[in-house]
Amino acid sequence: MRILVQKFGGTSLSTDEARAFVVRHIERERQRQHQLVVVVSAMGRRGDPYATDTLLSLLPNHSAGLPARERDMLLGCGEIISAAMLCGLLHAHSIPAVALTGGAAGIITDSQFGRARIVEIRTDRMLQSLQDGHVLIVTGFQGMTEAGEMTTLGRGGSDTSATAIGAALKAERVDIYTDVNGILTADPRIVKDARALSVVGYTEICNMARQGAKVIHPRAVEIAQQARIPLRVRSTFSEDEGTLVTDSLDFNQRAAVRDRHVTGVAHVSGVTQITVHAQDGHNDVQLQVFQAMARHHISVDFINVTPGGAVYTVFDQDAEQAVAVLQAIGYDPAVVTGCAKISVIGGGMNGVPGIMAKIVEALTESGIQILQSADSNTTIWVLVHENFMVDALRALHAKFSLHE
Ligand code: ADP
Ligand code: MG
Repeated sequence: MRILVQKFGGTSLSTDEARAFVVRHIERERQRQHQLVVVVSAMGRRGDPYATDTLLSLLPNHSAGLPARERDMLLGCGEIISAAMLCGLLHAHSIPAVALTGGAAGIITDSQFGRARIVEIRTDRMLQSLQDGHVLIVTGFQGMTEAGEMTTLGRGGSDTSATAIGAALKAERVDIYTDVNGILTADPRIVKDARALSVVGYTEICNMARQGAKVIHPRAVEIAQQARIPLRVRSTFSEDEGTLVTDSLDFNQRAAVRDRHVTGVAHVSGVTQITVHAQDGHNDVQLQVFQAMARHHISVDFINVTPGGAVYTVFDQDAEQAVAVLQAIGYDPAVVTGCAKISVIGGGMNGVPGIMAKIVEALTESGIQILQSADSNTTIWVLVHENFMVDALRALHAKFSLHE
C-alpha cells in the first residue's frame, strides 16, 4: 500500500474557495495511486462559527466550571463538523470517502482530558477503509480512552494526529497543508520577506517549533522523526511543494543544509525576566529559588545562574505569583515584564565563529538592548523588550540574509 496522510488546518477548510483547493489536492494524490488518510482540524480561527475557541466561548468565562471530560466533548465537535462536511463534499465530487472520529479510527489515549497522550493506535478499521478504496477522513486533535471516552490532545493536536497516524500506518509521507508556503525563515506575519525553506532536518524544525514558530507542533515533528517518515509543510492554496522535512538528504541537499549557518528566527512574547540576588547569609539562593518555582508549578526558562544569584524568565501570567513566592522566602527580585525571547536557529552554526557578534551588531545598529542571552550548539537566544521584538526579528533576518 502507498499510504499518504494529508492534514488540513483550520483556514484550509473555512471557505468554499479553500475547500475547492482541498478537493483538488485529494484528487491529485488519488490519481497518483496513493491511498489517502485525510486529517482535519476545526474550521477557521477564533471568531469563526465552528472554531475551537468559538465553541468554548459558548460558555461564560471561557468555560470556567466545565469539567475537563465534558470540555473535551465540546472541544472535539469542531473536528467532527469538518470531517462530516468534507466527506459530503468528496461524495459530491464522486470520490468515495468515509469519516471517522479519532476514537473510531483507533486512536487510544490516556485519560488526561485536554492534553491526552496517544498510547496506542489500532489500525484495523483504518486499513479496512483504505482497502475498500475509500478516502479516509479522520478528525484531528481527538482520541478515545480505553473506556470509550472522548479525549483531546492539546495544542497542535491535529498535527500530532496526522504524524501519529502516518507512523502507525507506515505512510510514505505526511503532508501538512496550511495557509503559508511551507516552513519559512521567520513568521511571515512579522517578517514580510521571510522565505520558504525547501528542505530541513527534523531536529532543526523541532527547535524552531519549540522556540515559537507556530507552523507545526514540535510533538508532531518528533513522532515523524522517530518513525523516519518524511513530512511536507505546504500551502493549501497552491501547487507549490513547500518544505520537505527529512533526515535522508542527498549529497547536494546535505551540503546546502551544512552551508546554511542560520536557518531561521523565531519568537515567544509575553515573558517576564526575574533577577534574584543572594541575600547576606543565603548561600543556596539558586537551590531555594528553583525549588520554590517547582513547588508552585511555575515553569521557568532562560536560566542563567551566577555565583551571586540567578536570572530567569517565566510567562507574564505567572509573574505575579512567582514574585510572591520569592518574597515569601525572603528575596526581593527585580522584575521586567513584557519581554520577548528571540531565537536564532541553525543546525550549521556549531563552531562557526562570529554568529553572536553578528547578532549583537544587528541589534545594536537598531538601538535594541539585549536583556539576556544564552546559546547552545544550534540556537542563540536573546531576550529583548517586547516593544522591540518586531524590529529585532527584522534586523536579524536581514543581517543573516535569510531572504536570499
Ligand atoms: P493551521 O490552522 O493550518 O494549522 P497555523 O496557524 O497553526 O495553521 O500555522 C500557520 C501559521 O504559522 C502561518 O499562518 C504563520 O503565520 C505562522 N508561522 C509562524 N512562524 C512560522 C514560520 N517560521 N514559517 C511558517 N509559518 C509560520
Ligand atoms: Mg496548526
